[in-house]
Amino acid sequence: MSKKSKKFLSYYKPYKGLFFADMFFALTAAAISLVYPMIVRYITNHVLVQMNITQASPIIIKLLFVMLGLLLLEFISTYFTAYKGHIMGAKMEYDMRNDIFEHYQKLSFNFYDNQKVGQLMSRITNDLFEVTELCHHGPEDIVISTIKFVGAFVILIQINLPLTLIVFAFLPIMFAFALYMRKRMSRAFRKNRERIADINAQIEDNLSGIRVVKSFANETLEIEKFLEGNSRFVDSKRESYWNMASFHSGLNLFTGMINVAVIAGGGLFIANKLINVGDLLTFLLYINTLIDPVKKLINFTEQFQHGMTGFDRFYEILEIKPDIEDKPEAINLNEVKGEIEFHQVAFKYNDTVSEVFKNINLKVDAGDYMALVGSSGVGKTTMCSLIPRFYEVSEGYITIDDIDIRNITLSSLRKNIGIVQQDVYLFAGTVMDNIRYGRADASEEEVVEAAKNANAHEFIMGLPNGYHTNIGQRGIKLSGGQKQRLSIARVFLKNPPILIFDEATSSLDNESEKVVQDSLEKLAKNRTTFVIAHRLSTIKNAKKILVLTEEGIKETGTHEELLKNDGIYANLYRMTYEKKNTEKHD
Ligand code: ADP
Ligand code: MG
Repeated sequence: MSKKSKKFLSYYKPYKGLFFADMFFALTAAAISLVYPMIVRYITNHVLVQMNITQASPIIIKLLFVMLGLLLLEFISTYFTAYKGHIMGAKMEYDMRNDIFEHYQKLSFNFYDNQKVGQLMSRITNDLFEVTELCHHGPEDIVISTIKFVGAFVILIQINLPLTLIVFAFLPIMFAFALYMRKRMSRAFRKNRERIADINAQIEDNLSGIRVVKSFANETLEIEKFLEGNSRFVDSKRESYWNMASFHSGLNLFTGMINVAVIAGGGLFIANKLINVGDLLTFLLYINTLIDPVKKLINFTEQFQHGMTGFDRFYEILEIKPDIEDKPEAINLNEVKGEIEFHQVAFKYNDTVSEVFKNINLKVDAGDYMALVGSSGVGKTTMCSLIPRFYEVSEGYITIDDIDIRNITLSSLRKNIGIVQQDVYLFAGTVMDNIRYGRADASEEEVVEAAKNANAHEFIMGLPNGYHTNIGQRGIKLSGGQKQRLSIARVFLKNPPILIFDEATSSLDNESEKVVQDSLEKLAKNRTTFVIAHRLSTIKNAKKILVLTEEGIKETGTHEELLKNDGIYANLYRMTYEKKNTEKHD
């Protein structure tokens, strides 16, 4: 059995009891459906033909009770399969959804760099629904259909062999036709699925960026783009509906032809006394009991296609190994001093591009404030993202307190590093929720304390509901400086010994910059800090400044040393400084 099938079956495991009960009732329902035509046969052949009314009445009354009993049993069985069967499916879907969400949490930055969020969402929603429909209807259909088919077949032979042969002459053609159509449908379904995922991705992208859309007045452009994707989806739907329609109406045609052939053949047989009326009637009833499961089995293949395509897409994701995982022998990082060292580090994002940098050696002592400057795109952000192992070094290694970071558990490593970036991501919810994201078990007092440290307390108190104000999706109701201060409060609460500030004040106006800069400096006290700064004025006090260029780290030293050196840094500094001066004169 393939690994995939094993995985699929493993989702049944917790619900074995429910599954077998479901199968039992499905079986019961199938068996009952085989009995009814028998009763009809008995009544027509024996009761009606051979008995008078006084003889018949008690038998009919007895049969009536038998049938009522069967009806009740059938009612219970179908109720159970329809209700509990679906519940079982829903529970399995619940497990799968949890699994894939959990897996999403484990996947690395590299994975997300190359994915569309909407696509990933549709794997959880649309796809899984199809899977669970298959999970419970599939086995039910197989059991019911097999019992009905085999049962009806045996009974038909007993009633009349030549007529049964007529029926079976049609079945192979019907099967061949169904198999062919099935193949076509599965192709169409796959296309369907991909296109609806495209639509989801497009909607997600559009709604997330709706403010940009509006600011560029590009609504029409967006609608046109959407129409294109939407039409492609409808085209693929048209294709699958065409296939489905041909399939179903074709099968109906075959069923009709079988009935017509049996009626015609049966008529001749009656005339020749080869069959009596009651038997022909019963035979016709059983044809449906025979064809029904054939249709159902073929429908099942359709459902199987749907479900398996969904499961494939689900399993595809589960099979992706996170690029970066804990080694089995990884240790937890405790009592961090915060000394960081890069040893001959090289890095590239993937094998198709060249290195962002190589031969990087640097050392930051515990508690030092180190600045990284360089023009845009040289790899400052990239370099810092290697420390929390968002990406893995391609060559060399990085140590914290002399431990290779690849030997440290990811969660303990990342718990010890606080990051403040230019783009702040806040979650929908209250101010309190967002600050508490830094440490889930923090008390309300601790949150307020962190906010005070981040110079955020005052503005928070000015919000309509203070700490319990809802800040909207991604914190849309706050200004840039306010969002940044919340993100700093979050890090205060987390209280990590190592910090990375990546252009944290770059997008702020002068006034908020000062407030934010002030809280950043407070935060940096006694912690190892990497600062990537856009404005050189904010790093003058750095213990060490590194100048990164395309060729690697070109200059190292304090502000004064580098100015004296009169190299790249001095140049950069003079440019900014002189620009400021001319601005003042204007
Ligand atoms: P800086 O922060 O110095 O402005 P970055 O570290 O962001 O520069 O980027 C360095 C280089 O790596 C750039 O050429 C950029 O295009 C590339 N890059 C950045 N992020 C990714 C990514 N996720 N995948 C592939 N390439 C990237
Ligand atoms: Mg950057």
